[in-house]
Amino acid sequence: MSETLLELSGLEKHFPVTGGFLFKRQVGRVHAVDGIDLTVHAGETLGLVGESGCGKSTTGRLAARLLEPTGGGIRYRGHDIAHASRRELKPIRAEIQMIFQDPYSSLNPRHTVGTIIGGPMEINGINPPGGRGRRVRELLEIVGLNPEHYNRFPHEFSGGQRQRIGVARALSLSPKLIVADEPVSALDVSIQAQVVNLLQQLQRDMGIAFLFIAHDLAVVRHFSQRVAVMYLGKIVEIADRSSLYERPRHPYTHALMSAVPDATVDTGARARIRLAGDVPSPINPPSGCRFRTRCWKARERCATEEPPLVKLEGNLDGHLTACHFPEAPTVHGEDVVLDPALLG
Ligand code: ADP
Ligand code: MG
Repeated sequence: MSETLLELSGLEKHFPVTGGFLFKRQVGRVHAVDGIDLTVHAGETLGLVGESGCGKSTTGRLAARLLEPTGGGIRYRGHDIAHASRRELKPIRAEIQMIFQDPYSSLNPRHTVGTIIGGPMEINGINPPGGRGRRVRELLEIVGLNPEHYNRFPHEFSGGQRQRIGVARALSLSPKLIVADEPVSALDVSIQAQVVNLLQQLQRDMGIAFLFIAHDLAVVRHFSQRVAVMYLGKIVEIADRSSLYERPRHPYTHALMSAVPDATVDTGARARIRLAGDVPSPINPPSGCRFRTRCWKARERCATEEPPLVKLEGNLDGHLTACHFPEAPTVHGEDVVLDPALLG
């Protein structure tokens, strides 16, 4: 096993909800991330998947230490950085980079591509051999853009090209870990595969580790060696890619998978599950298992006892599931059509 780069343990991020006169009173807390354990090894690709609002971006921003956790630990190459100061974080900032979802708002429209990509080098006082300009041109070439376009502005590029600019910027400090937060969600489907392929190629060539965030399982499928499924601030299942896609055990993973036509290939006739209702509010998450209010298998125990994330019988090593009544290791089910009335 390669070096452990990043270790999140019991990680929590709660945001205050304010109300009352001038919104000065705290009336509650958003449990955006509510006690998760995740490890990223050097050079590995870990996918993080879940519906909108479940805490993926918050997890990504915590991992890059753009946010300070409310509780729990963040270790980067053995150093505790959960509450590290700006100055203590400085050497680490270069090693962990982010790629954001929206290539329109994440690039400064008044800066040239050269300034945008060279910015991190300038801030960190890095002068590569041959100069920053040359390095920027090299990076443009690496991400498949014309190095001559150095002096152009973001609006002169398409969405896919802008995301490549974001990738070049993330690469400029030779990071060891890139947190890619839904890097293709805002792009046309026809462009998505190109950008994913680029990231995959970079990952292979440069041995960069990725925490790749997506809201569906199809996007991370070919990219990730391991995949974690998140629901309402918790990780409900995590496994090696093949184990997760071929033998998902958590009902929520099944539901996500049945929403992905391409993911059904492996197991043949997989039950088609329609998830009714919205994700409950993370201000008042359900007791016990958080998925129970939308789960067709939920029983009384699910409301009173939180299922731990553990290896179940029939699972391979490293395949962990948090469910009291998991699906069988292989499934050839009939269609499950959920009665909305059952879901309350
Ligand atoms: P995802 O990326 O999975 O869509 P997020 O991590 O963005 O989820 O958000 C998780 C929850 O935390 C959501 O309910 C969101 O509204 C809330 N949240 C995120 N950032 C903040 C913030 N800065 N202040 C208050 N609530 C936030
Ligand atoms: Mg997000």
